Amino acid sequence: MASAPAVHAGLAVQQSTNKGRLVVATQAIPAQAVLMVDLPYALVPAPLSHEPPISFCCNHRCNRQASRAGLELQPRQENRDAAMQADNSRSGGPVTFISCPRQCAPEVLWCSRDCHAQDAARHNPECAWLRSSGARARAEQGEFEFELLWLLARTSIRRHCDSNIGSEPGENHNESVETGSAVTTSAGSSHFDRRGWDSVWDLEGSPGSFPVDEVAGWRDLTSTYLVDKIPGVECTAEQAIGLICRLETNSFGLYPGVTGDYPIKTHAGRGEYFGSGLYPTAAMFNHACCPNVSHRLDEHSRRIFTANREIKPGEECCISYFDLVEFRDAAVRRHEIRTKWTFGCDCQRCQDDANEGLPDFLTGLDIEND
Ligand SMILES: [Zn+2]
Ligand SMILES: [Zn+2]
Ligand SMILES: [Zn+2]
Repeated sequence: MASAPAVHAGLAVQQSTNKGRLVVATQAIPAQAVLMVDLPYALVPAPLSHEPPISFCCNHRCNRQASRAGLELQPRQENRDAAMQADNSRSGGPVTFISCPRQCAPEVLWCSRDCHAQDAARHNPECAWLRSSGARARAEQGEFEFELLWLLARTSIRRHCDSNIGSEPGENHNESVETGSAVTTSAGSSHFDRRGWDSVWDLEGSPGSFPVDEVAGWRDLTSTYLVDKIPGVECTAEQAIGLICRLETNSFGLYPGVTGDYPIKTHAGRGEYFGSGLYPTAAMFNHACCPNVSHRLDEHSRRIFTANREIKPGEECCISYFDLVEFRDAAVRRHEIRTKWTFGCDCQRCQDDANEGLPDFLTGLDIEND
C-alpha cells in the first residue's frame, strides 16, 4: 500500500475532556473492514540475547521481516551480493540478510544490497553512535535502557534525514479547538492529516505526566548517552525528554501474531516480542479489554487495523494494548493495566466483571464466544 498511512474514511479523531483524544466511527463500519494501515516512523529490533523470533530490515522504507529460524546471515561482501539478491527475490526460499560491515550491533541487518545502499545516509550516524555511546549504554545500563535509547536515536536520526531532503508534508501547527462541550472534533488540525515528524511531535506525552524521579532518570540517561552524541544529528536535552515521554506514552511492541482479536477465539497468544516502534497515526487509539479493533503486522512491519465486529456510527474505536489471550483473568488484567499503563480501565468488559463478580473462569472462552 503505497499511500500508507491510510485511514478509513469513516474514522475521525475527537477530543474528550476525560480521555484526551480518541478515535470515533463517523459511519457504520462492517466487521473485518480494514480501518487503518500505519507505517512505522522508527523501529528498533529486540536484543538478540532475548531470542526474538523475527528480524527485520533496518531500512526504514522497507522493514521487511524474516523468521530467524529460516534466516541466513552474511557479512556485507560485494561478491556475494548478486547471488543473495536473486535468492531473496524468490518467495518461499531461504532468506539471507546482510549485517553491517562495521559490526555496530548484531541486530542491524538489511534484506538486500539495495536496502543497505538506500539506508546509508540514515545508518551512518547511527552506526557511529552504536559503536560509541550505544555500546557503552548497553554495557553500563543493560539491554532495556539501551533499547529505549536506540529508539530515541533512530527517531532523532529519521527526523534529521527527513529534514535534509525537505520532505515534511502536513506541517500545520493549529491547536485543537477549546470548547465547553465534552467531545469536539478539532476541525482542520486532525492528527490523521499529519505526517512525518509533525505527527510524532503532535502525540501526547510530557514530563508532567510522569513521576519526577523517572523523568530525572531519563535526563541522566539521555545526557550521558544521547544528547550531542549522534554525529551530525541535532538532539537537545529538551527534545530528548519530550521524545522519551511521547515514546513511553505511544510506542507499540512488535509481535508475530494478532493483538486484541475479540471475542477471544484461541489459546495461542500473539507470540514473542521482537522489537518496538512508533506508529504515529495509530497512536490515537485508546485501550479496551473488549476491543472492537485488532491489529497485526504485515511482512514489511506495516500495522494493519481491522474491525473485530460491526461498529456503529458514534462508537469509539479501541484496540488492546496487551495480549488479551495472555491476560485473560480479570484481576491479572487490571493489575497489568495499572502497573504498566497507569490508568484504571473502565471499558464495558471491566465494568461487567466488576458488576457481576463472577469467578473469572466463567468469562473465559465459551461464554465470550456467544
Ligand atoms: Zn529491506
Ligand atoms: Zn553499522
Ligand atoms: Zn478494561
